Amino acid sequence: MTLLAFLVVAAPARAQDSSCSRDEAEECCRSAYINDKSRAEIGGRVACCECEGSDSLTMVACSYWGRNLEEGGEIKSDAWPGQAIFESCALKHEQGHIKALDASCDPGAPGHFAPWRPLANPDKFEAREYKLEISCFKDSLKECEALGSKKGDYHALCARNVNHRVQQLEQALSRLKP
Ligand SMILES: [Zn+2]
Repeated sequence: MTLLAFLVVAAPARAQDSSCSRDEAEECCRSAYINDKSRAEIGGRVACCECEGSDSLTMVACSYWGRNLEEGGEIKSDAWPGQAIFESCALKHEQGHIKALDASCDPGAPGHFAPWRPLANPDKFEAREYKLEISCFKDSLKECEALGSKKGDYHALCARNVNHRVQQLEQALSRLKP
């Protein structure tokens, strides 16, 4: 999980991976967001999804950066400078949890966030994912350059958002006790 309020109200979902179709994953991430009472500061989470062709629940990585559920509609992936980078790095973080099996859909409910494994030390697994996410943001800085020609100081704002996020994550990492 990534907990941080920054820039935007988080909401529906950019999702991928797993055996779920893009539409199934998108809808599942949206439901999980709506069903979770503590969603206000969620940047990303793992959701438990019912997808065609699978008897069991499938874990799906969800990113909520820059998506406003209240407005209902799909938001362009470049709605603000660096949004696509935030989404992609949040997905890497959540996919890391899925690969490491920190989270589980057993037990779990369809259309809800996956519970964390009860015996795991959250600080330990978040430290690993924060590091992964920090690397992702640092590696993605060059993508801000590609936005340079779009408009005004889009490139500079993107770099500022990305650098700010790296700082936030480094602070969050330093507060963990793995
Ligand atoms: Zn996490």
